[in-house]
Amino acid sequence: MNAKRILIVEDEQPIREMVMFALAGAGYEVQEAADARQAQINITERLPDLILLDWMLPGLSGIDYARRLKKDELTRELPVIMLTARAEEEDKVQGLESGADDYITKPFSPRELVARIRAVLRRGGPAAEDEMLYASGLSLDLASHRVSAGENLLEMGPTEYRLLEFFMSHPERVYSRSQLLDRVWGSNVYVEERTVDVHIRRLRKVLEPHGYDALVQTVRGAGYRFSTRV
Ligand code: CA
Repeated sequence: MNAKRILIVEDEQPIREMVMFALAGAGYEVQEAADARQAQINITERLPDLILLDWMLPGLSGIDYARRLKKDELTRELPVIMLTARAEEEDKVQGLESGADDYITKPFSPRELVARIRAVLRRGGPAAEDEMLYASGLSLDLASHRVSAGENLLEMGPTEYRLLEFFMSHPERVYSRSQLLDRVWGSNVYVEERTVDVHIRRLRKVLEPHGYDALVQTVRGAGYRFSTRV
């Protein structure tokens, strides 16, 4: 299991260092940014597993940045924990309304921080275990990992399954190869972009006998899209 990557966005260097030290000690891979602009560059390069976001930042505030992250398809599911010195209830509400997953008031102990991060990362796992995804006659059972085309059970490798699960839960949108690598393979894995093409081919081959390979569409110059519209 690869270490989870945490991005800390905080303009106060002593706090950043304390957090980095605590998280490295807990086995996390940590990256730092002093403001939202730097954080965005960081995120675009590689998506972290969680972001610790200070409320009061120079430039774009943490709260506005959290809102922006939750609006962007790429970062919508990225868990956000807000760090703040403000303890008022009103601020708390505002923080959670921005889409933050949790909230820590400064000063906090490294232990408390690690416990909160663990809790949020756990929550961020497979959300509803008993959920089913459907597309045309294709169905995917998130609990048993069974994929069926009508009455027929489809056999596929674990990567093809994860790829299909991602596609079926994010239909009608184009993903670049690097976005798919981040979202399906995970941000800690170094694989070449053409690996995506290989697994797309395998997935289509599984779907083809049932006529569903057309759902996995190549978008020239952009990437791939899962769509029930031809
Ligand atoms: Ca600050």
